[in-house]
Amino acid sequence: MTPQSEDFSAWFNELVLKAEIVDRGPVRGTMVIRPYGYRIWELLQSDLDRRIKETGHPNAYFPLLIPQSYMQREAEHVEGFAPELAVVTHAGGKVLEEPLIVRPTSETVIGEYMAKWISSYRDLPLLLNQWANVVRWELRPRLLLRTTEFLWQEGHTAHADEADAMRETMLALHEIYARTVRELAAMPVIEGEKTPSERFAGAARTFTIEGMMRDGRALQAGTSHYMGTNFARAFDIQYAAQDGRLTHAHTTSWGLSTRLVGGVIMTHGDDKGLVLPPRVAPYQVVIVPISRSDQGAEVIAAAAALAQRLAGSGIRAHVDDRPHLSPGFKFNDWELRGVPIRLELGPRDLAAGSAVMVRRLGEGKEPISLDGAPARLADELEAFQDFLFERATAFRDSHTVTTDEWDDFTKAVATGWARALHCGTPECEEEIKAATSATARCIPLDGEPESGPCILCGRLSAYGTRVIFGRAY
Ligand SMILES: [Zn+2]
Repeated sequence: MTPQSEDFSAWFNELVLKAEIVDRGPVRGTMVIRPYGYRIWELLQSDLDRRIKETGHPNAYFPLLIPQSYMQREAEHVEGFAPELAVVTHAGGKVLEEPLIVRPTSETVIGEYMAKWISSYRDLPLLLNQWANVVRWELRPRLLLRTTEFLWQEGHTAHADEADAMRETMLALHEIYARTVRELAAMPVIEGEKTPSERFAGAARTFTIEGMMRDGRALQAGTSHYMGTNFARAFDIQYAAQDGRLTHAHTTSWGLSTRLVGGVIMTHGDDKGLVLPPRVAPYQVVIVPISRSDQGAEVIAAAAALAQRLAGSGIRAHVDDRPHLSPGFKFNDWELRGVPIRLELGPRDLAAGSAVMVRRLGEGKEPISLDGAPARLADELEAFQDFLFERATAFRDSHTVTTDEWDDFTKAVATGWARALHCGTPECEEEIKAATSATARCIPLDGEPESGPCILCGRLSAYGTRVIFGRAY
């Protein structure tokens, strides 16, 4: 595999294919998610789904095909998405009277039904979530990170007023996204608001969680939007308030997609392959039986019994009993696939009541007792999860520079992030991008109050705090 330091993109593309995360789809920009990759997604997905339900959002499902006229009702929305739309013009052997859009996102179709279902203040808030695939025609597709079709969830809610809709927007960002991504993916994401030029098409305010990948680039891992009354006006989502007055609802939407799997890989992986946080690892422990053929059956039976005991205490364990492969091959294979802990089990270990433990990032081998294995491994996995989060945090912090000097800024964004004051004008952001390839990633929600001259143009800063700039996926 190409080393990360030589060509990070090549490393990533080779790794996701070799580790059987994804394969290229038959149509340019599409991907097949293979079982090993899909399991990682499922582990993230089921935690998100739990949090989404616990915060009061039931799942629903809306159609894949959207009438073209729906897309055209919100001016900024249609303008933002127009270049990415896949349009169905023929069906059933005939030209359609009205072309159909393959959904790039579902604000429009859901807006139409919110209008139908909401009539009084008693119907609010209306909280919905949908798990679905969406299609955005990508001119420069990238495996897992920017694919023409991807899987995601999209939350859509309607509220009586701005305050309630903003509470919802922040709930999705903080309680649902940031927590799942930090606690499961072990990614120390920063929560912040997008600058106006980075906003979602049609949104009044867009919030994001941004993580730093091991090449110093930023990955937007989830977004939460406050739409104001833009979609309510376009789709006539109105309710009778307590005084009987007809009032527009305030809506939100929020989405997190399969690109997060790419984020996990680029946050933790190394030159040997994937490094998976235990909470999203399809197998947390892999047992490799080691024996000559005369003792093979006994060792494999012991490995299977151990795996079962581990499963009994909630550890995802797997026995690699593929007879045609050498132990050395298996060690490399599971290293490539990022399994947090490998156990080697041979006749001599078995006689001694122990197994040999090797951590994915640890040094050397360590014998552990078979009797105490479930408790010991549960502790080891917990420690490994914490270690990955701390390592990623330290990496991010050591690649983030707070600066008021343009020269330092350009150096910082070549290898990581810069925290700088900015005037808030889109033209100035555009100039920074042209000069350095870096964009405004977010205005951190926990940023210290600060103001002064803009890093590029010297005008007085906007936003009241520093903006994070970086190159991004
Ligand atoms: Zn400026």
